[in-house]
Amino acid sequence: MLSIEQVRIEGYEQLVIGRDDTTGLHAIIAVHSTALGPSLGGVRMWTYGDEAEARTDVLRLSSAMSSKAAISGLPLGGGKAVVIGDPRRQKTRELLLSLGDLVESLDGAYIAAEDSGFNCRDIDVLADRTDHFVGASTDSGDPGISTALGVCVCIERVAARLFDTDSVEGITVAIQGVGSVGLHLASMLHERGAKLIVADVDEVLTQKAADRFGATVVAPDRIITTECDVLAPCALGGVINDQTIDGLKTRAVVGGANNQLLDETAHAEALAVRDILYAPDYLVNAGGLIRLYVLEKQKEGEAELADWITGIGRTLDEVLDRAAETGQTPVKVAAQITEERICSA
Ligand code: NAD
Repeated sequence: MLSIEQVRIEGYEQLVIGRDDTTGLHAIIAVHSTALGPSLGGVRMWTYGDEAEARTDVLRLSSAMSSKAAISGLPLGGGKAVVIGDPRRQKTRELLLSLGDLVESLDGAYIAAEDSGFNCRDIDVLADRTDHFVGASTDSGDPGISTALGVCVCIERVAARLFDTDSVEGITVAIQGVGSVGLHLASMLHERGAKLIVADVDEVLTQKAADRFGATVVAPDRIITTECDVLAPCALGGVINDQTIDGLKTRAVVGGANNQLLDETAHAEALAVRDILYAPDYLVNAGGLIRLYVLEKQKEGEAELADWITGIGRTLDEVLDRAAETGQTPVKVAAQITEERICSA
């Protein structure tokens, strides 16, 4: 039977821990804020070492979702769920059903979506127990394409600012990771005339990017420091760190990966010192979240979705203008805008 424990955490609206010995469920849902609307965030299933590690992750991820929704102007809050366990071995239908009961217990304060270890078919199972989900297999499809479009729009805005051009034609973009987001991004940039350098630990994917888009392939350990106009991290978090910053040979970092800066404040400042423009990742990569909201919650169409995603570029301009005026980093300015929006709600 499902047991639910509520834990009070300062700065968060709710933290619930669900356990079910019969199905093996051990999950935590964090609702950071519903000031702007119901909290929406993916379910991550991962082999966390213990509950404390999972709790730290869900708290960090849920507050990042609040920022992403707020900076994107979405009437959504930030939430996240983590399930402790190996998705390949432990993700049974019974476990998913008890997770659905846990989501339902929050009565709409949290809306579940996909994340690592959790796909649209898992959402289909949750749907047997709760209506509070987005991203089922029959719904809005691959969010990676919308995330990539948001990144592409931001690269165009940054190119206009740095290279005084109204297109990315002839601009060299180095993409780390050509999975879902990175490959769509490569395709969009190729169509717009950019030159591409790519790396991925999966050689089949780099070969695909080389064959389809004429991309130059470099080794995964070289891509971050390869010479380019714009570096687009689309694989891992923490790639901008003390070990890599001095070696960067780019004018800007604009990518789809979450948490690109290992230390948000220190590394944003270190990039500014080197005069490398950094576009805050949670703004740049909000296209997937926007897609879920526009197509599934608002039931609007592709035209409205495209307008919303173009809006990411306008917000980035606002952030970069304010950063230039005040001498603050874009990360600091984005955090201020996020806070203003949440507080005024
Ligand atoms: P993905 O798993 O489809 O692609 C990631 C790719 O990175 C894979 O091909 C993998 O082989 C490659 N990779 C891993 N380690 C690497 C390394 N050291 N060097 C080079 N390549 C490496 O994931 P995705 O959905 O494309 O997401 C990519 C990033 O964007 C993640 O950080 C994710 O959290 C973030 N993100 C994705 C979305 C989305 O809509 N999919 C939305 C927001 C943020």
